[in-house]
Amino acid sequence: MPHDSFGVYTILTGYEGKGKCWFCGAVFPDKRARRFCSNICRSKYQQSFYWSWASNAAIRRASYRCKDCGVSGKRRLQVHHIIPLNGSDRIKNVLNKRENLVVLCKKCHLKNHEIRSR
Ligand SMILES: [Zn+2]
Ligand SMILES: [Zn+2]
Repeated sequence: MPHDSFGVYTILTGYEGKGKCWFCGAVFPDKRARRFCSNICRSKYQQSFYWSWASNAAIRRASYRCKDCGVSGKRRLQVHHIIPLNGSDRIKNVLNKRENLVVLCKKCHLKNHEIRSR
């Protein structure tokens, strides 16, 4: 696992550990230790790849509704990966990016998985 002065990291965008902003790839003007060019990039990175942020952001974007049946209520909702994780680490993963997440209620989520495995 690569690491820098902040600790261990996972390579998600490919910009990690190269003296560039991890999200947008902007080159840092100096050698000060940092990972992001701005707080905006930091939060975009988190919301794109870190499950705890990405899943909450997906539910917010979906206005707390199931995409298939429209049922609402945060506790009934689950966040589904369109391209499945297939056992890869959920906590930090490129597959947590917003285009790959869809918000479904438990029922529709189950239905979705049944369709795929047929
Ligand atoms: Zn940036
Ligand atoms: Zn539903």
